[in-house]
Amino acid sequence: MNPESIIESVISKYQDYVNPGLASLMKFGGFGDVEVSASGCIVRTATGGEYLDCLGGYGVFTLGHSHPDVVDAVRRQLDKMALSSRTFFQEPLALLAERLAQVTPGNLQYSFLCNSGTEAVEGALKIARVATGRTGFVCTVGGFHGKSMGSLSATGREVFRKPFDPLVPGFVHVPFDDMEAIEEAVDENTAGVIVEPIQGEGGIRCPGPNYLQRLREICDRTGALLILDEVQTGLARTGAMFACDHWSVVPDIMTLAKALGGGVMPIGAVVSTPSIWEAAFGENPLLHTSTFGGNPLACAAGLATLRVIERDGLVDRARDRGAQLIEGLRNVHARFPDALADVRGMGMMIGVEFKVKDVAELSINGMARRGVIAAYTLNNPYVIRFEPPVVITPEQVDQAVTAFSEAVEEAVGMLADL
Ligand code: PLP
Repeated sequence: MNPESIIESVISKYQDYVNPGLASLMKFGGFGDVEVSASGCIVRTATGGEYLDCLGGYGVFTLGHSHPDVVDAVRRQLDKMALSSRTFFQEPLALLAERLAQVTPGNLQYSFLCNSGTEAVEGALKIARVATGRTGFVCTVGGFHGKSMGSLSATGREVFRKPFDPLVPGFVHVPFDDMEAIEEAVDENTAGVIVEPIQGEGGIRCPGPNYLQRLREICDRTGALLILDEVQTGLARTGAMFACDHWSVVPDIMTLAKALGGGVMPIGAVVSTPSIWEAAFGENPLLHTSTFGGNPLACAAGLATLRVIERDGLVDRARDRGAQLIEGLRNVHARFPDALADVRGMGMMIGVEFKVKDVAELSINGMARRGVIAAYTLNNPYVIRFEPPVVITPEQVDQAVTAFSEAVEEAVGMLADL
């Protein structure tokens, strides 16, 4: 089949068998092609297009696509044993849990491994409830924790929540970065306060300097557990191994996913302390389980990922390339102050807020036509995010900034002509 026929066939199958509305949205966004391969920061399509990936799979591709060390580790494990018998002990799981205990801050030590971000959050919520004997949670407006029922109950955007009411009871949403609101909302029935250290889908929102520390204090005083959702921010993305390291705050429970699989395997993790683990699993070690969670392939990918992050200094690279990218984007902001409202972020987790939603939409499309992939944040369509692989080169950062600049200029011109 020639490329055009492949594209037509795949898109029509999305329309007929996957999700027609999604197919239209993807075409409108400028992504009406079919991806066929990827390596490093580049995604290749059926028509021979080469795209610089500045979305990075919403934080999945910290190491880039198809990192050879991760692919190799998974391949070697595949040759031995793909999935666990679920009876014997298995080494990749043991090694990964040990490594997570070593790299996570403070006394975080035990890990429950699962397959996605939302599963990690479900695990965290259940563990917090059973460990405290309480049922309430305080979470934030604009926060994103996934779309399964428990995680969705914590997610702070009505458009995703409303159609599924009633959700899990006991979740209270307060404005992000508002310490007084958290203080007021936490009471003797609060099992946990769950926040992202930097709101990702809420529009790449960084908290003020004392926010996380204050949350830590409130939790210590009230006996609520501090759950930091590092599914998107974790593992070098923000220029620290974990975003909470920026503020030297240690949570009681941390959730991880996205980057942990090295862009090769899906995996999630809930990491917590010995005393919480004892309270949660002491009486019944099978209280929370997952058939595929912690499978040898995913754990082999996780181990290789942690090795590469440390060996190649990806925390420093996220900080340095992030500084270059944010400076470039701020220069564009200075040129188009009427179209852009803000450029913000930490490390390689950067958001550009637009004043007009249509300019944002057209700019994403314009960047795609210039060979650069970008996207909105899910809970805030005014914000385009830049979360490229941390292995991006300085030249590729310049390429992304140039494409963005041209796309904004074009979008502003198009709207002025209407
Ligand atoms: N938590 C955070 C902070 C996220 O950003 C996401 C996804 O974007 C999730 C949880 C849910 O992860 P998943 O889509 O793997 O279920």
